[in-house]
Amino acid sequence: MLQISELAAGQHYPTGALYVVATPIGNAADITVRALHVLALADRIAAEDTRNTAQLLARYGISKPSIAVHEHNERSAAERVIQHLKNGERIACVSDAGTPGISDPGARLVDAVREAGLPVIPLPGASALTTALSAAGAWVSGFSFAGFLPTKAKQRAAQLRSLANHPMALVFYEAPHRIVETTRALAEAFGGERQLLIARELTKLHESLHRCTLAEGPTWLEADANRQRGEFVLVVEGAPETQDADDAHDALLTMLLDELSVKSAARIAATLTGASRSGLYERALKLAKRDESEEE
Ligand code: SAM
Repeated sequence: MLQISELAAGQHYPTGALYVVATPIGNAADITVRALHVLALADRIAAEDTRNTAQLLARYGISKPSIAVHEHNERSAAERVIQHLKNGERIACVSDAGTPGISDPGARLVDAVREAGLPVIPLPGASALTTALSAAGAWVSGFSFAGFLPTKAKQRAAQLRSLANHPMALVFYEAPHRIVETTRALAEAFGGERQLLIARELTKLHESLHRCTLAEGPTWLEADANRQRGEFVLVVEGAPETQDADDAHDALLTMLLDELSVKSAARIAATLTGASRSGLYERALKLAKRDESEEE
């Protein structure tokens, strides 16, 4: 049987390519075998903070030359990275934690490297986004990632208003000093009844996942100062379906049912509208039965 490290080593890793490598979000053990292989193979690391990354890599016994690629220099640093890639180097791009490009630098570097006609190779791994979602539960079917909300109250309220009727669950990142204020703003903008998951310190010693309603969120956080410490992901249930939405779904399903089975019609309508597939299946079933009885 192949050793797991041989599985990673057995793959071809082209030179002159940018490898986008996810690193842990708290627990240093949450790194893939392939990520470690590529970090060890890379000629250079493009890092959001070169000192942080050097410390992380030291834990895996890896030491590499690095280039700082952060929010304020991403375009100019990209030119240096491209030059090294053209010289045939393999460069691994990492952020301080989790997946580069997810509320972190990396996306502009990816654009620049691709525009230069060079390959970009993603290595999957930890992200606070998918970690929180994986433990959210079935009330989240589709989701949209909203990242950090604006810090100014007026802009935050405006953005939340624009999201209030979004049918899918919304995922936000938030800092500890704003967590109470933000959950309160969410309850004000969306009403108190929707489900909320407060995922704190994921993969770390003080990890906690608390599910409640939006109305309960700020009160629960304020009941204990420890609940406001650390890093947060908030997952908020999507907007409830309205009568208008029900009518629009029925019109879409009726059209789809002319050509498709109930199951396929519900699946395609769910993809097109973002509404829950099981809810659409129930509606499609009723519409199909009604059509059958009308034909008899
Ligand atoms: N690129 C990262 C990712 O893939 O998740 C996100 C980087 S963003 C600058 C940092 C934010 O992600 C934090 O403020 C917090 O909202 C969220 N986050 C990161 N690590 C987390 C953790 N261990 N638990 C909860 N949230 C976390």
